[in-house]
Amino acid sequence: MAKISINLKDGTAKKEDTLIVGIDLGTTNSLVAYMLDNKPVAVKGQDNTNTLVPSIIHFLPNGKKLVGDDAKAKLIDDPANTIYSVKRLMGKSYKDLSSHSEYLGYEVIDDDTESLVKIRVNDIFYTPVELSANILTALKLRVEKELNQIVSKAVITVPAYFNDAQRQATRDAGKLAGLDVLRIVNEPTAASLAYGLGQKADSSNLIAVYDLGGGTFDISILQIQDGIFEVLSTNGDTFLGGDDIDRLLMDYWLKINGRDKQDFIKEKKKLQELRLLAEKAKKVLSSNLLFKESFDGMNCQIAREVFDNLISPLVSRTLDSCKIALNDAGKTVKDIQHVVMVGGSTRVPYIKKSVSQFFDQPLYDSLDPDEVVALGAAIQADILAGNQKEMLLLDITPLSLGIETVGGLMDAIIPRNSKVPSRAARQYTTSVDGQVNLKVAVYQGERDQIADNRRLGEFVLKGIPPMPAGLPKIEIIFAIDADGILKVTAKELRSGVEQEIEIKSQYGISEEDMARMLMDSITNAEADLKVRSLLEARNEANNVLLSTQKFLQQNDQILSGEEKKTTLALANALKATVDGANKDLINKAMADLNEYTAPIAHRAMDVHVANAMRGTKLGEKEE
Ligand code: ADP
Ligand code: MG
Repeated sequence: MAKISINLKDGTAKKEDTLIVGIDLGTTNSLVAYMLDNKPVAVKGQDNTNTLVPSIIHFLPNGKKLVGDDAKAKLIDDPANTIYSVKRLMGKSYKDLSSHSEYLGYEVIDDDTESLVKIRVNDIFYTPVELSANILTALKLRVEKELNQIVSKAVITVPAYFNDAQRQATRDAGKLAGLDVLRIVNEPTAASLAYGLGQKADSSNLIAVYDLGGGTFDISILQIQDGIFEVLSTNGDTFLGGDDIDRLLMDYWLKINGRDKQDFIKEKKKLQELRLLAEKAKKVLSSNLLFKESFDGMNCQIAREVFDNLISPLVSRTLDSCKIALNDAGKTVKDIQHVVMVGGSTRVPYIKKSVSQFFDQPLYDSLDPDEVVALGAAIQADILAGNQKEMLLLDITPLSLGIETVGGLMDAIIPRNSKVPSRAARQYTTSVDGQVNLKVAVYQGERDQIADNRRLGEFVLKGIPPMPAGLPKIEIIFAIDADGILKVTAKELRSGVEQEIEIKSQYGISEEDMARMLMDSITNAEADLKVRSLLEARNEANNVLLSTQKFLQQNDQILSGEEKKTTLALANALKATVDGANKDLINKAMADLNEYTAPIAHRAMDVHVANAMRGTKLGEKEE
């Protein structure tokens, strides 16, 4: 086993250590890059041409998986077992997704709850973390094959707007793929690094990064000062990208050929084929003035000029976002010194022209826009490996810091490698009615269960006013000062009751211990995830059972005998699975119960609302 040596102060790996790769884990495409002779290169696949791995996973009937181009080919024939756009689901709860799940061709379990989403394929439930890990594993294998050596360390990029949960999910995916994720880097920061911006310690720069990918648009305004990148603002549209251009083109062809869209949509396969033809035409038009082919008796022709007109409203929308981002950063176009183009869709000449006009300057577009983020990630990895001395690095936390939550799970509040000083807060609540005390136990480490991490201290927040479970709002704040002293504060926000502890001095942990803890977290990632998803499924099931019980009690008058009987039977079936060790059975039983009770709950709600309204009306009359 490779030995990890980590600089305790900044959490970076030593130079003599093994290679660190850079990974762009994209919504549409992913890729991996590394430094070769001081230059970043993206790794090609077996065909030796394409560096992009489509971010798609297909499940074969025998349970095996296909990832990348092979999986993409299955999108047409077998969409239910072919998962794409997983990145959209990372760190998201069902509630966060709400209306967007219908956009996906596979099944997202969409109970209206706050727990994290799962995806169902053949009655097996997968988390976005597991699915992303499949993509990362494919990339890991790809670079290992190219270099003929084991690769176990990586820098992974995420959008600048990713929140803590989404970043943590990305880290977990890396861990599950057997990668020690040394740092999560913002995509626009990586892209700027690829162009060598901000490499000099003494320069100050203002950069706009325009990223138009397959399904998302992001604009980020970055400031680099003394080698430190700061995101001043971000804006964009999570449902705007190259896919929309393809759709516009399809609609155009259907129209000029007098075809009815509704009729065409019924033939799923043909529709997909036309979509692929539209994508092809779009790419051809990036270097030619005309595209002409026929398909299904249609004349599929389009000239560059017509195409430009077609996409002009879409481009305007991206520029509106740019205006907002500039405004939010308190800057104007004149302040921007560099404009970096990212994402496959920025190859479209009309888009380049429009963006250049908007910012009134030439663009950084000489690098491959699909690869630029991964290339920058490889440079960042190289800096972390200690190979680029002139680049400044911040002090960062060597291991994650967090607290114990229900079921003995670790909830990381300040992730490993966060910059110091740092401050993060998260809200919790009670799990029992009338609970007046809450134990806050602080842990350090990367494992999912606190039993495997290191306990730093604990205290009890006392004097919470008695309230029903779930009502108190308890904010836990972790603050690390520049000297590495951690202060943990807990505060009940409704009553203002507060308590804190201080934990001193780099948490007194030896370098060997830290290396061991990290290594453990990687070798045990898969087992950890299994335990974690089982514990999470159990917690969720217990909550569902409790609320079902409450629901039955409160709506006794409204429910029919049959409904009560079936609900009880399904609840009992769920109860029977809870103590078992099979999370899929628990999830299945939970889905069954939710599916059955959802319409009844809606009806009950309507009755309650109607009653309440009647109440108000009566009240008014009495006045
Ligand atoms: P993501 O960041 O979402 O993973 P990418 O940056 O890989 O996405 O961009 C993928 C998009 O770029 C797709 O919509 C694809 O059709 C588009 N694209 C790729 N090459 C070209 C080209 N030559 N001209 C126009 N669009 C292109
Ligand atoms: Mg991208």
